Amino acid sequence: MKNPGIKRKAWNIPDIPEMAQAIRAGNIPYLSKAITLTESTRPEHRMYAEELIQTLMPFTGNSIRIGITGIPGVGKSTFIESLGKHLILAGHRLAVLAVDPSSPLSGGSILGDKTRMEQLSRNPNAYIRPTPAGHALGGVAARTRESVLLCEAAGFSVIFIETVGVGQSEVMVREMTDFFLLMMLPGAGDELQGIKKGIVEMADLIVIHKADGEMKTKAKRAQVDYLQALHFMPPRSDAWVPEVCLASSLSGEGIQAIWEIILRFKGHSTQNGSFQNRRHIQSGQWFHHSLELLLQNQLNQYLHTSGSAQLIQKQALAGEMNPLLAARKIFSEWLLSNQSHLS
Ligand code: GDP
Repeated sequence: MKNPGIKRKAWNIPDIPEMAQAIRAGNIPYLSKAITLTESTRPEHRMYAEELIQTLMPFTGNSIRIGITGIPGVGKSTFIESLGKHLILAGHRLAVLAVDPSSPLSGGSILGDKTRMEQLSRNPNAYIRPTPAGHALGGVAARTRESVLLCEAAGFSVIFIETVGVGQSEVMVREMTDFFLLMMLPGAGDELQGIKKGIVEMADLIVIHKADGEMKTKAKRAQVDYLQALHFMPPRSDAWVPEVCLASSLSGEGIQAIWEIILRFKGHSTQNGSFQNRRHIQSGQWFHHSLELLLQNQLNQYLHTSGSAQLIQKQALAGEMNPLLAARKIFSEWLLSNQSHLS
């Protein structure tokens, strides 16, 4: 950063040691401010956030990161409230982050803007951070990973990352969590089709939710179906056998048991080294995604500023040039323009 002191004063942000100290002390307004900076598109904000995270790195990694997915209406926010209250009573501090793919039809968010998790949001031991808006999914995932580290440095011992079971976002959430929980509705009949099979395969635990009242019998049947489906899957390299359980966030039944399964998973995977291994692989994935994102941003910027690249793009769109050839030409031009900058 060329002139960080002057810049920071203009944004009303303390210097990095002060910010880092405040976050480590659990100061929520500072934590929120830091997360906002990671979400900013301004390069100077990004640089500040990256330096801050680097400073805080020794104080990260101590939480259990739990991914939660399921279709809209399966009861994710009610479940998070229910389990969250239980965890806070047990002495945990809980952060809830969201990876929310915008709806391709409406352009709006799927997790919704309605006030969710009202009770948790009023609890001083819970921190609920809404989805960063205005980023492509890759960008949202990158920002969420940074938010996880900031929340860990602020002393949150459990981090939920919530997403919607409708597409690509759960793969990303699986790639940044220690434990991946899939929520299903009982008696939907075609559950295995409604949620892609690949997502079922990624789950460490399937929760058949709303297993109460008239739905209880259907939920039990669904449990048997899923156990059978999982039985045919090949053994996992971490030797964990995914479980299927019933829960109701309204009655509270099964909620404590879910936490016990998560703890059992943690014990099992720590003991056989797969917990650390999963995180190690995830660091590699993050590194590669970051490289790809940087490259993509550079190329997009070139496309917006180079007249020649725009002409080639036009030809591709008009069907006058094979799109692959067009992309290759633009890529070569971009490489050459970088070389001329360097020489
Ligand atoms: P989300 O869209 O997945 O976050 O779902 P919500 O948490 O907003 O819940 C959707 C609806 O399901 C709400 O009307 C809840 O009251 C209801 N719901 C949530 N949990 C349960 C449950 O355990 N049992 C029953 N019967 N209904 C529930």
